[in-house]
Amino acid sequence: MTANIPKNIRVRFAPSPTGPLHIGSCRTALFNWLFAKNQGGEFILRIENTDVERSKKEYEDGIVEGMKWLGLDWDEFYRQSERLDIYEKYLKQLLDEEKAYYCFCSKEELEADRQAMLSQGIAPKYGGRCKKFSKQESEEKINKGESAVIRFKMPLKEIEFHDMIRGKVKFNSELIGDIVIAKNLKEPLYNFGVVVDDYEMKISHIIRGEDHLANTPKQIAIQEALGFENVKYAHLPLILTPDRRKMSKRYLDVALEDYRQNGYLAEAIVNFTVFLGWHPVDDREILSLEDLIKEFDIKRVQKAGAVFNVDKLDWLNSQYIKKMDASELALKIKNFIPSQWQSDEELLIKAIGAEKERMRTLAEFKDLAGFFFELPNYEKNLLIWRDAAPEKIIENLKMIAMELEKIDEMMFNKKDLEQIIMPLTEKYGVGDLLWPLRTALSGKQASPGPFEILEVLGKKESLKRIEIAINKLQNK
Ligand code: GLU
Repeated sequence: MTANIPKNIRVRFAPSPTGPLHIGSCRTALFNWLFAKNQGGEFILRIENTDVERSKKEYEDGIVEGMKWLGLDWDEFYRQSERLDIYEKYLKQLLDEEKAYYCFCSKEELEADRQAMLSQGIAPKYGGRCKKFSKQESEEKINKGESAVIRFKMPLKEIEFHDMIRGKVKFNSELIGDIVIAKNLKEPLYNFGVVVDDYEMKISHIIRGEDHLANTPKQIAIQEALGFENVKYAHLPLILTPDRRKMSKRYLDVALEDYRQNGYLAEAIVNFTVFLGWHPVDDREILSLEDLIKEFDIKRVQKAGAVFNVDKLDWLNSQYIKKMDASELALKIKNFIPSQWQSDEELLIKAIGAEKERMRTLAEFKDLAGFFFELPNYEKNLLIWRDAAPEKIIENLKMIAMELEKIDEMMFNKKDLEQIIMPLTEKYGVGDLLWPLRTALSGKQASPGPFEILEVLGKKESLKRIEIAINKLQNK
């Protein structure tokens, strides 16, 4: 083992582009990014696309796009498919030093071995049949066109490492066996590519999901065989559903893109994901990226599974929406509303202002605020407050229309309207007056208050809607 020379802090996020960017992967990216920023280190994005059949460019684009959207920028970018010569060099080194060998076993032979081991109650692993061929023999077989993979000669020993989150972790490599590290010199597999890249890219800390824990001893053994120095590890806890199952597509939306399309803000997603296994020292729940950079400490990451709670995400999202300016929200909300609503920018901003407190996601705006842009369609019974007589409601609406008529356009704002109209409720009753007014304007069981709506709609439109309501009640 080579001595550990202190290195600059360099971490990487190494997704395989075999599917949409998963929330769990976003967390891995975020923890690496925060660790780098907090420590003044570098953050590398490495696309692990050596699996040609499953890797797709569109998924790579989605990852890049998602990272940018979250605000997680990188210092260096690599694609494994552009580094095949580098892997080949190290594969040859292992073959030359007889630390790896060609394996010619057929699928059927391997399957028969596996079954035999299982029937004896042994955990299946490769039995080492092809280890007997000398380098020369193997090369002759290859030259004759026999197909082969490259296996790593796993040293038989205990492999121990220190995990920054889990403490001391030990594996017995005898259970692992000689793993396949490449399909051929030009097609390295995951465990090998990672080791070579982490070394070549001078990675100091590997921060990744706990699902990779079992790969770590394999990677350490390969590092040692190649004479690479050790790297530090941190394995992040599993993400669980509220009923404590492993999170998967079956239980919840897991793709970042789904959340984005449903109107979650990047700030809220970042804030939410960081809590999947990490907490600040105090009980604050809203932390910006800047706060997180200052405070992130990998030692505070928990070992136990982290529960993914969508209600918490909704709550956080609504907090970020409330904090945001209506004009800033207007830019973000554009993708969630019909294009004709966008033609009156002023109305849009006012409507957002009125609904901001009630929205949990940007997508909800469309249902909540439609009545600001289009005449509402509703049953006349909605206008009736409790068991009030329809005649009384008609009277009240007529009275309020007359009052509003008198009010100068300049005074058509929530505060002034409230001051003028509230005293009338003493005589006419709060519910009997404000309920029909609000429902006439919104056509909705629940909405912002009547004064807010009056301000957004303005005098002319408000009077028009009150008239429509009166006509409905009079069956006109
Ligand atoms: N490419 C691997 C994955 O997507 C991650 C590799 C690693 O972090 O070591 O799961």
